[in-house]
Amino acid sequence: MRELGTPVLDDHLHLDRNGARGIDAVRDFARSGGTHLLVVNKPSWHLGFEAETGADFRAVFEETLDIVADATDELRGRAWPVLGVHPGLVSRLVDERGFAPEEAADLMCAGLDVAAEYAAAGEPVALKSGRPHYEVSDDVWNASNRVLRHALKRAAETGVALQLHTETTEDLTDVGAWAEDAGLPPERVVKHYASGTLAGVTKSVMCEKDYLETAVESGEPFLMETDYVDDPDRPGAVMGPKTVPRRVNWLLEAGRDEAVRRAHVETPEAVYGIDTEATLA
Ligand SMILES: [Zn+2]
Repeated sequence: MRELGTPVLDDHLHLDRNGARGIDAVRDFARSGGTHLLVVNKPSWHLGFEAETGADFRAVFEETLDIVADATDELRGRAWPVLGVHPGLVSRLVDERGFAPEEAADLMCAGLDVAAEYAAAGEPVALKSGRPHYEVSDDVWNASNRVLRHALKRAAETGVALQLHTETTEDLTDVGAWAEDAGLPPERVVKHYASGTLAGVTKSVMCEKDYLETAVESGEPFLMETDYVDDPDRPGAVMGPKTVPRRVNWLLEAGRDEAVRRAHVETPEAVYGIDTEATLA
C-alpha cells in the first residue's frame, strides 16, 4: 500500500461489477496511493437499460450507489457518486428509437430530475449532463442544450455541482454564463475530459503529462481524472485506475506540492464541498 502523504482524488471514472475488473480496479487505485473517487454512472444503455421514463433511470443510479459503497470499503478515504444522463443518449433515442429531439430531451430531463432527487437526499456530490462531442443536427444540438440548462438549474436548486461531457473545446464561457443564469456558480461546473486549458468552468484534466503541466502552470483550479471505463470489450481503451496516483507521485517528485494540493484538496472543496483531508483515515 503506497502512501503519497496527500489525498489523491480521481475526479471521474466508472466502475462496473460485471466489468473486466470490477472492484479490483479500486484496489489497484488504493494500492498505488489513491484515496478518493468520484464514480459516475455508466450510460444507461451500456447496462442494458432502455429507459422509457425518468423513473427507469433509478436502476442505473442504484447500481452506482451500491458500487460506491463497495469502493469506499477499499479506500483510506472514500468514494462519492455522480449521477446523471449521458448526453449521447439523445442520439440513441433519436436515431435508433424514433424519438423527436424534443421528446428525447424531455426524457433526459426527467432522468436528471430523478438524479437530483438522489442528490437532494444526500450522497451524490454532483449531477452529470452535457452535450454531444460529435456533429449533430441543429435540432439535436438545441435539444441537448436545453437538457444541459435543465441540469444547471437542478444542480443549483439541489446545492450540488455539475459535471459535463461536451465537445472538445477550451472555451465553455457560454455554459458559464448559463450557470450564472441558473444560480449555479460557474466554478461548480466541471468539464470532464478537459485538456490543461479551459475558460468558463472548472477543468477536470485527463492525466496526459502535457495537459497536467499546462494546468499546473496556469495557477488555476483543476481536478485530475482518468475516465477509466471498466469495459471488457475495450480493456486498453482508456487510462487505467493507477494513473492519477502515479501522476501525483510524478508531480510531487518535481516539487509541485502546491499544485497537488490545489487539485486534490482545494478544488474538490470549492467545487463539490468535499473535504478530502477530514475524510482520510
Ligand atoms: Zn466517463
